[in-house]
Amino acid sequence: MISFELSTEQKELQQKIHSWAAKLHSLSLKIDAAKPGSINRQYLKIIAEENLNSFIIPEDYEGQPLDQLTLSLITEEIGYGCAGLASIYAATVHAVSALLIGGSPRQKNDFLPLLLKPGGAVASCCITEEKGGSDTASFDTTARQEGENYIINGKKIPIINAGSAAFYVVWASSGTGRGRAGINAFIIPKETRGVIVGPYHDKPGLRCAPTATVAFHDVAVPKSNLVGLPGSGYLLLMQTLDWGRAFFGAICVGLARAALEEIISFAKKRIVTNRPIIKNQGISFILAELATEIDAARLLVWRACRLMDINMDYTRESSMAKLFASEAAARTTSEGMLIMGQSGYLRPHLMAKYQRDAQGLRILEGTSQIQKMIIASQL
Ligand SMILES: Cc1cc2nc3c(=O)[nH]c(=O)nc-3n(C[C@H](O)[C@H](O)[C@H](O)COP(=O)(O)OP(=O)(O)OC[C@H]3O[C@@H](n4cnc5c(N)ncnc54)[C@H](O)[C@@H]3O)c2cc1C
Repeated sequence: MISFELSTEQKELQQKIHSWAAKLHSLSLKIDAAKPGSINRQYLKIIAEENLNSFIIPEDYEGQPLDQLTLSLITEEIGYGCAGLASIYAATVHAVSALLIGGSPRQKNDFLPLLLKPGGAVASCCITEEKGGSDTASFDTTARQEGENYIINGKKIPIINAGSAAFYVVWASSGTGRGRAGINAFIIPKETRGVIVGPYHDKPGLRCAPTATVAFHDVAVPKSNLVGLPGSGYLLLMQTLDWGRAFFGAICVGLARAALEEIISFAKKRIVTNRPIIKNQGISFILAELATEIDAARLLVWRACRLMDINMDYTRESSMAKLFASEAAARTTSEGMLIMGQSGYLRPHLMAKYQRDAQGLRILEGTSQIQKMIIASQL
């Protein structure tokens, strides 16, 4: 049965998250304007106080997990408050999902509870390399077997939560000429010798989700930290990316919704030639189109999450959700900048931040072109 009605519990949780996320706007502008560095302490505090990580950790490992649809609801609300904070959270969800899909009970037991520490904790997924993030079938980062260890060498860039992560899930190639079959994923704890973080990137958007380069210099990782069977890293990566895409879609929906509210409020107040600009069809029709696109994006996110919840294939649907939602966010914020005119352009304003963040979300987790390639391959 298909239902668009949320349960009372879902609505209450959504409202609870919204009540603090909606107050983040001025803090997020401050963080956005700050020099690049590690995650803002107040954001870590929110992650801890709101117990966000418990929502993604199974009960066996001290969490209080939500189903994927409910998780998308809260991700949308966090994205409404700040796409940067939501991306910090989604990066952690990503790393956790790799462990949930391929990790051993020992790995889950050792690493997942680290994310429930009182001060607030995050994790990182290290996939992209300088040579190009879209090619996920080969890596220059290597993992060489030596006795009971793998020795990791290479560089990943850009990595959300770098420097603050309790652990990194790192994809590397374990042999030359073996292509996908040689790819493995490893869990590398924060303080491991040879893990070098920096520099932090002074990027135009998603500045509230700091990224840095993470280099691995002869990092010794015990074999027991290999996630899944040897050679299963490529499949694990595809499954992890599929899972994450719907949640990045939810962030885009939240961001676009916040931007649209801002545009509507502005358009009702802004008087030009003796009437609010919203009275012009040239403006109100754009707002109608944006509202429709945002609702359509949310439905795509919900569908992908629902498919996850009932254990059906969701590769195509997850990519559709990410593609459509990120393009809707980019269009909403671009129209927002136009409709707000100089009011949005000349001074630090949320709309400009929204637009810069939305551009980052078109790239992160696979660009729009890559989503189209995935969808086309499934037709
Ligand atoms: C803010 C931000 C945070 C990030 N955080 C992380 C992180 O935490 N961990 C991580 O591993 N990565 C992270 N990334 C990296 C991100 O996943 C990659 O940027 C993304 O996958 C694209 O890779 P690329 O930027 O190297 O582009 P490239 O792969 O170099 O591609 C360049 C352009 O070519 C296009 N293109 C490539 N191949 C094709 C093709 N076959 N057909 C058509 N077009 C094509 C791409 O769509 C893109 O437009 C982050 C990126 C950003 C912007």
